[in-house]
Amino acid sequence: MDFEDSAVEGKARAEARAFLDQHAELKRGDDRDWSRWGATTDPERAAEYRRRCREWQTTLYDNGWAGITWPKEWGGRGGTRTEQIIFGQEAARYDVTPGFIGAAQALVGPTLIKWGSEAQKERYVRPLLRGDEVWCQLFSEPGAGSDLSNLAARAVAADHPADGWVVDGQKVWTSSAQHADFGILLARTDPDVPKHHGISFFIVDMATPGIDVRPLIQAQGVAHFNEVFLDSVLVPAENLVGELGNGWKVARTTLGNESQMISGGGQANTFPNVLATARRVGRTDDPTVRQELARVWGNEAILKYLQLRLQSAIAHERWDQMLHGSLLKNAFTRALSHRTTLAVDLEGAEGMLWDDAEGGGFWQYQCLNQFAARIGGGTEEVHRNNLSEQALGLPREQRSDLDLPWSQTKK
Ligand SMILES: Cc1cc2nc3c(=O)[nH]c(=O)nc-3n(C[C@H](O)[C@H](O)[C@H](O)COP(=O)(O)OP(=O)(O)OC[C@H]3O[C@@H](n4cnc5c(N)ncnc54)[C@H](O)[C@@H]3O)c2cc1C
Repeated sequence: MDFEDSAVEGKARAEARAFLDQHAELKRGDDRDWSRWGATTDPERAAEYRRRCREWQTTLYDNGWAGITWPKEWGGRGGTRTEQIIFGQEAARYDVTPGFIGAAQALVGPTLIKWGSEAQKERYVRPLLRGDEVWCQLFSEPGAGSDLSNLAARAVAADHPADGWVVDGQKVWTSSAQHADFGILLARTDPDVPKHHGISFFIVDMATPGIDVRPLIQAQGVAHFNEVFLDSVLVPAENLVGELGNGWKVARTTLGNESQMISGGGQANTFPNVLATARRVGRTDDPTVRQELARVWGNEAILKYLQLRLQSAIAHERWDQMLHGSLLKNAFTRALSHRTTLAVDLEGAEGMLWDDAEGGGFWQYQCLNQFAARIGGGTEEVHRNNLSEQALGLPREQRSDLDLPWSQTKK
């Protein structure tokens, strides 16, 4: 396998670098980098981080670098998956990020482009891509996470069909709902058919009366995600995406983009941060610390290799090789646990501090955040199940409720 750039790829990389050099600063690897401020407990700094994320997204859009694989017709660059991967590799070296808006954008955009009506695309896709409007994903519920198709939020036709739908239910884990203008919502429109068949996919204006967003404060003291209660929320008929009862199919497009996004990102250039901490506390000559540093470096090399394998599968649309995503997810979360715990250990007594620790609690935040990474985008266990069934050919899990009407399944 040749990982070197072809002539075309080399040209794409040079173009990306030229744009980034002109519009962004290289990362310094410490607290001066605003792109790290997503990991802060200071509300003012968090607000500044969100402002800069949106500003960066607008810069990307206005210069033709947003939505690299999205069609030009909808504001994208009309490029290839390889170009997107190359841009991501280059951008990781700079102090920029779309941050809190990036995830929902990567999920919602391709879903609306594939399944939305012309009017929906016209109304929503460009403001989404430019960062003018922020979105969230209203899928998971208290009883439907790994088994998402078990969801119980109900959408019932309003008295006058032209009025659309009335939605009642509870969502949970909804990232950035407290900052969102719109949400993509899965709700059950027919409980009397098997669980995958009675679900529909809607666009919801988060300012609609009856929506109550309650932030969930995590151990770090910040709220990344929320509970969202929906109480007789009126959703206009034109906000149905795809056909009635076809929401699972639409959601699969969203979830496919989620695994690509989660599996592909976030692991670049972490070793220098750990090494800088070891140097700062004067421990690089400690034999056990050197062992651990070599492990961090080795893990990073393995992650990069797995990432390349996955990116190659995505670039060539080899969906049969997407299993590398499950492998990468587990390797990534294990490596994350190891390096963040090591960094906090290296800080010694200072590691028990938070904002007063050097770096404003960067490692403390990362260390606690490892648990979110291990659950979000499919838990480690679910990805290992995936590997055991699809890579190892072990018997499939027992599933007794696939053909039963959802209303008759055990809750
Ligand atoms: C940081 C973060 C952000 C998120 N953002 C969003 C968002 O914006 N929108 C949204 O809709 N959702 C979001 N989620 C929810 C996420 O998709 C779910 O948490 C995830 O799918 C797991 O579901 P659950 O929490 O209900 O756990 P459960 O499915 O209840 O699982 C509980 C435990 O059982 C294990 N388990 C479950 N099924 C199996 C199985 N078949 N085999 C073996 N073990 C199993 C799991 O691994 C886990 O340890 C987010 C989650 C996190 C952590």
